Amino acid sequence: MQSIEQFYPLLNQPFKAVITAHQKPDGDAMGSSLALYQFLTQLGHDVTVISPTNWAQFLAWMPGTDKVIDFESNKAKATEIVNNADYVFCLDFNILHRTKHMEPIIRDSKATKILIDHHQQPDIESFQFGISDVKMSSTCEMIYDFIVQSGHSNLLNLDIATCLYTGLMTDTGSFRFPSTTATVHKIVAHLKELGLQHAKIHEAIYDNSTEGRLKFMGNAFLNRMHVFPEYKTAVMAIPKTDIYKFELKTGDTEGLVNYLLSIHGIKFAAIVIDREEERKWSFRSKGNFDVNIFARTHFDGGGHANAAGGASSKSVDETFNDFKNLLENYKTQLTQIN
Ligand code: 5GP
Ligand code: MN
Repeated sequence: MQSIEQFYPLLNQPFKAVITAHQKPDGDAMGSSLALYQFLTQLGHDVTVISPTNWAQFLAWMPGTDKVIDFESNKAKATEIVNNADYVFCLDFNILHRTKHMEPIIRDSKATKILIDHHQQPDIESFQFGISDVKMSSTCEMIYDFIVQSGHSNLLNLDIATCLYTGLMTDTGSFRFPSTTATVHKIVAHLKELGLQHAKIHEAIYDNSTEGRLKFMGNAFLNRMHVFPEYKTAVMAIPKTDIYKFELKTGDTEGLVNYLLSIHGIKFAAIVIDREEERKWSFRSKGNFDVNIFARTHFDGGGHANAAGGASSKSVDETFNDFKNLLENYKTQLTQIN
C-alpha cells in the first residue's frame, strides 16, 4: 500500500470514483463519505457514494444523503458504477468483508482502492494507496487532514464541516473518549469558523428517537440486562421478538451498549442482538481491556481497543452462554482494570 501523500497528485486528473464505508454506516462512516464526496465533487470529479446497506434514520438529514446509493436495494446499478470507477475510496473499515455483499464486487473491480481508516490491523494488501492510523479519533478527522494536507483547505465549506463534525462527535462519544485530542478540538474550532451549527447536529443525532425506541430501552434495562460485578462486566442479549415488538429500525440499538459502561465499577460491556442473518455483538471497555482482541479471538470480529464488534451464527441464547463462560478466563484481567 502506497502512502496517502502519494495519492495527492492524482487529485488533479479528472476521475470517476466510488466512496464506500462499512455496512450499517454510523455517523463517522456516513460523515466521512459525504465530506469526501463534497470535496471531490468540488474538484470536478465524477463521484458516487455507495453504502453497502441502509443506514439509520437519524443520519438521513446529512447534506448529500439523498444521493447515496444503498447497494442492497440497487445491486445492478451500484455494481455497474463500481465496475466503471477508476478509484474506490474505502472509509472507516479495515477489511473488505465489512462491506458485506459488496466485498466481491470491490475485490474484483479493476479500480485502484484507497483506504482511509482508524481501525486496528488493516488488511493493507487489499489497497493500493491509503492511510491507517489507530490514534485518529475518527475517519472524519482523517478526511479533514486529507483535504488540508493535499492543499485544499479553501474548499472546506459548511456542508463538509457539518459532515465532518458528525463523525468527530459520534466516534468520540461527544468528545469524551481518550481519542479526543487537542487536535480534535482545534479542528472543531476551525469547523465553527466555517459556520458550523453544532447544537443542531447533536439534536438531529441524539434527540431523534421514536417512542418505541425508548420503550425498547426501558424493557432492555429491566429484562435483558445481566450484571456480573465479579467480572466488572455487564451484558445484554436482545431477542428478535423485542425488535419486532418495539418496531425497531436500523440504528435504534446504537449506543445502548455504552449505557452499560455507565454502571459504577463496570469496565467491560457487551450486547448481542438477534439480527436476520447473524447474532451481532458490540463490545465496549474502559482502560486496558482490549475488546478488539476479545472480538477477534472469540467472535470473528474486530475494531478498536475500547470499542469493537463481532458476530455469531449460533442462537442468541447459545452465543450469550458462550460469552458468560468466557468471562472466567478473563477474570484476572477484568478485575485488574482500574
Ligand atoms: P459497533 O459496536 O458500534 O457496531 O462497532 C464498534 C467498532 O467496531 C466500530 O468501529 C466498528 O466499525 C467495529 N466493528 C463492528 N463490528 C465489527 C466486525 O464484525 N468486524 C470488525 N473488524 N470490526 C467491527
Ligand atoms: Mn470510525
